[in-house]
Amino acid sequence: MAFFAGKVALVTGAGSGIGRATACAFAAAGALVTLADIAREAAEETAAIITQSGGTSLAIRADTSLAEDAAAAVARTVGAYGRLDIAFNNAGISGGRPGQDDFDEARYDRVMAVNAKGVWLGMKYQIPEMRRRGGAIVNMGSIAGLTGVGAFAYTASKHAVIGMTKAAATRYAGENIRINAICPGAVDTPMLARATAGVVAPPPGTTGPVAAAEDIAAAVLWLCSDQARFITGHPLVVDGGILAS
Ligand code: NAD
Repeated sequence: MAFFAGKVALVTGAGSGIGRATACAFAAAGALVTLADIAREAAEETAAIITQSGGTSLAIRADTSLAEDAAAAVARTVGAYGRLDIAFNNAGISGGRPGQDDFDEARYDRVMAVNAKGVWLGMKYQIPEMRRRGGAIVNMGSIAGLTGVGAFAYTASKHAVIGMTKAAATRYAGENIRINAICPGAVDTPMLARATAGVVAPPPGTTGPVAAAEDIAAAVLWLCSDQARFITGHPLVVDGGILAS
């Protein structure tokens, strides 16, 4: 079931939660994976897990909100593996719970810098490399990118991700580069545990089931596979039915 043998993937926020699960899934499916995270040790822990499972990866420290780090993540990937086929722009922060500091300017700026600008910077450096032979990008949205349930800055950042995903998909549809967004509901990760004070439950303002990080990873791999070759510009909701209620 090595769907990605010979492919090269870059995953941001690969040191924890959804990013770690997705990086491990890509490696298990045969891809060579660059693990980018602002926390170097966390990325190295993911690399150790992949090595133990017989996979191949490269752990690097990168703050995705910085242009030089976004550029270096692509350059180091191409330097190590010769190409870039897949990017999962996953790194993100919650910035706090809804209602807390919704009008805090520093929080707004940092959440937008990581969640929205970080995705834009990722695509800025990934797309020129993918124009050589095509590729697939998945950007991390959220159901907070489709509704108004979250904190102000977080909700704004995820709406921005979905908007720029559609714009980029439209621009590059003719160049064999597919660009989609994934929109989880509640996922059992350290971020959700922080947002819900350690109780694994849907975020405040939502009800419904909680996914495992592996559920999101499976959807990301499918979006990046040839099975999804005609899907681009799509915000794929993976929420166990939260938005349907
Ligand atoms: P997490 O906190 O477990 O993992 C996030 C990882 O991103 C961490 O390793 C962290 O060090 C890294 N990171 C943070 N800022 C970074 C930066 N500037 N540059 C590089 N790396 C950075 O969180 P998670 O739940 O796995 O979240 C991953 C993504 O999924 C986020 O974008 C989040 O908004 C989104 N999301 C999560 C949920 C959920 O319920 N957990 C739901 C919807 C969307």
